[in-house]
Amino acid sequence: MTTEKHRLVVVSNRLPVKLQRTATGWRAERSSGGLATAMSPILKSNDGLWIGWPGASAGIDDPKRQEILERWAAEERRIAVDLPPETAQHFYEGYANQTLWPLFHHFPSLVVFDPKGWVAYETANRRFCEVVVRHYRPGDMIWVHDYQLMLLPNLLRQALPDAPVGFFLHIPFPSSEVFRILPEREKLLEGLLGANLLAFHTHSHLRHFRNSVLRVLGRESRINELDAGERVVRLEAIPIGIATGEFTSLLATPEVAGHMAELRQRYAGQQILLAVDRLDYTKGIPERLRTYRRLLERAPKLRGKVVLVQIAVPSRQRIGSYEALRRQVNELVGEINGHFGAADWTPVVYIRRGISQAHLAALYGVSDVGWVTPLRDGMNLVSKEYVACKLDNRGVLVLSEFAGAAEEMGEAFLVNPYDEDRTAATLERALTLDAEERERRIEALRRRVERNNVFAWGERFLAMLRDAAAACVTGASDRPLPLDIPSILDAYRKARRRLLFLDYDGTLVGYANQPERATPTPRLPGLLQRLIENPGNCVMLISGRKRADLERWFGDLPGLWLAAEHGALLRAPGAADWQPLRPDFSRHVLEQVLPVLQHFVDRTPGSLIEQKEYSIVWHYRMSEPQFADWLANELVAMLEDMLAETELRAFRGQKIIEVRPLWIHKGGVVGHLTQHCGPADFQFGIGDDRTDEDLFKVLDTGVWTVHVGEGRSRARFRLPSPAHVLDLLERMATAGVS
Ligand code: UDP
Repeated sequence: MTTEKHRLVVVSNRLPVKLQRTATGWRAERSSGGLATAMSPILKSNDGLWIGWPGASAGIDDPKRQEILERWAAEERRIAVDLPPETAQHFYEGYANQTLWPLFHHFPSLVVFDPKGWVAYETANRRFCEVVVRHYRPGDMIWVHDYQLMLLPNLLRQALPDAPVGFFLHIPFPSSEVFRILPEREKLLEGLLGANLLAFHTHSHLRHFRNSVLRVLGRESRINELDAGERVVRLEAIPIGIATGEFTSLLATPEVAGHMAELRQRYAGQQILLAVDRLDYTKGIPERLRTYRRLLERAPKLRGKVVLVQIAVPSRQRIGSYEALRRQVNELVGEINGHFGAADWTPVVYIRRGISQAHLAALYGVSDVGWVTPLRDGMNLVSKEYVACKLDNRGVLVLSEFAGAAEEMGEAFLVNPYDEDRTAATLERALTLDAEERERRIEALRRRVERNNVFAWGERFLAMLRDAAAACVTGASDRPLPLDIPSILDAYRKARRRLLFLDYDGTLVGYANQPERATPTPRLPGLLQRLIENPGNCVMLISGRKRADLERWFGDLPGLWLAAEHGALLRAPGAADWQPLRPDFSRHVLEQVLPVLQHFVDRTPGSLIEQKEYSIVWHYRMSEPQFADWLANELVAMLEDMLAETELRAFRGQKIIEVRPLWIHKGGVVGHLTQHCGPADFQFGIGDDRTDEDLFKVLDTGVWTVHVGEGRSRARFRLPSPAHVLDLLERMATAGVS
């Protein structure tokens, strides 16, 4: 059970009810739209507080209105954020809905760039922040919703540094090509990065976000996290679901059964195609109407036998582009009905208003085809509601591939709504589908929608937020401490047997633009020799380098253990030959990856390929950093798919991508050395990149693990640079003989 201490604070632009002034006073009305539908049940099961704008700002000083808001706060735990009318207008109708909304839905031509809008957006986000801070209690979790509040996570981070803050984006995140059009792009991304958890509906939205952060802020991220200074931001794709029970329980009521019987009678002998949308240009309503016209043209036998019921809920009516859309839709409906209609048949039944949930459930229940074809949509709840209501398995879902829902609704007929010809052909097929296939498809869809419902979504988000916030608190331990030189020297001196694991590149020498130029300084071999000469020491140089490199540079240090290619090849002191970790390894699949990497070399001036016995490496240190980083992301994403079934994986290093077998990692050599040299009372592992993390992982927690450079590592300690490493080794060599 949730206690008072762990409340959930939900923050969204709108409260789930809006206040409206009427001739007789004030009226509260349930907000329409996906978020209100989705969040109410989650808040019911948590000890939730909802903070949001109560709607229309005219008359905000009316004492009666204040009274209502106070009652909401006390009785319903809904806290209103009031905004002065002008701020509200420029923030909501302006920047949020005329700049961010069209841009995030890939309609750059509809974007309005108005400086007043941005100022209001900042002001409104600050105002939200003040209200959240006022109601926040330590232990609360804050869940911020959607594109209207993208600055809020960072504002909250400044005001409440330890608060767990999660953010969910309900609309798509655009491609970085489109996102970077925004003049305020840096500020928006920085705003988001204040969160502990950033979640999107789909992996492609998440990928777009990561690309934007790389291209706009120049920050690299991993598939599910991003370093933001001292903190880590978790990144997730969590597709929203619906409260299936809300609809299915309605279907069983006499009221809805009555509506369904009525509809069946009214449309007897006709198949019902159902479309339910807000009247928004992202929903593809004109495209649908034109597609319907084509359907009636190409299949005259359907005339009189089908009806398209189009519900269009009015939305954002004061914005010009919506008014233009309204006119366009009116014209198309009139044209189709005028052209094809008959005295006893209306091809399009157009309902331009919101309808009750009972009527909606009845329509979902009786319609033969759910026609959900937005041009772009974050998720689209209507598609899920339609499927959930098909308890009798009699229905087909035709879904746009540009809806987030398409990524998890593979049994739907997926269409490109811009391709009116092929969509019309798909609809014809949907209308004549045999019962068995129809049932198989819709049943699979329905079961998935039931399983991935809104409660599961909310729980996943909150569990991940808890996790991300906890990891952030313990994140301090991911930051190695500065190495205390006297302490390590003291331990070194007191030990009788010592194991030393030394990485090469970035640890003993700095990076060069070309790998072959990173040769050892003249001082290094002598230094290593002095360490080896101490009979208490077992020293292993463990590198990603080829055996030829190590042999060339260190071959005449007979007492040194050499591990090449991250431990795939070992040379014991004094041995003439190298031992392979797996003698039976075949390069067959590796060879197939080569052309892919070569293609990336062609596209990236300055980059090059290095071939090793167990791996292939793409080096891009000399390339234009942003472009190459971006391509590196593309390459890793592509290889992840390509190599999924193989033993190979793509690994990132310092400005390299390496493709090698999963079973090669630096931790593998630890056992080998321990076996040969016997138990040690001083173990030391040092390295600078991700491959060294495998070494740190395998070494015992109590030993001296040292990360070279800044950033996170599982090593306990850090040193700033290779020069510091050489100084330390020098002092060890001296300490050992004194
Ligand atoms: N809806 C509504 N009234 C109506 C028609 C639809 O409240 O007359 C609801 C519908 O049940 C769905 C939501 O509006 O839950 C639309 O969500 P969706 O994700 O499809 O689109 P959005 O409007 O959020 O872009």
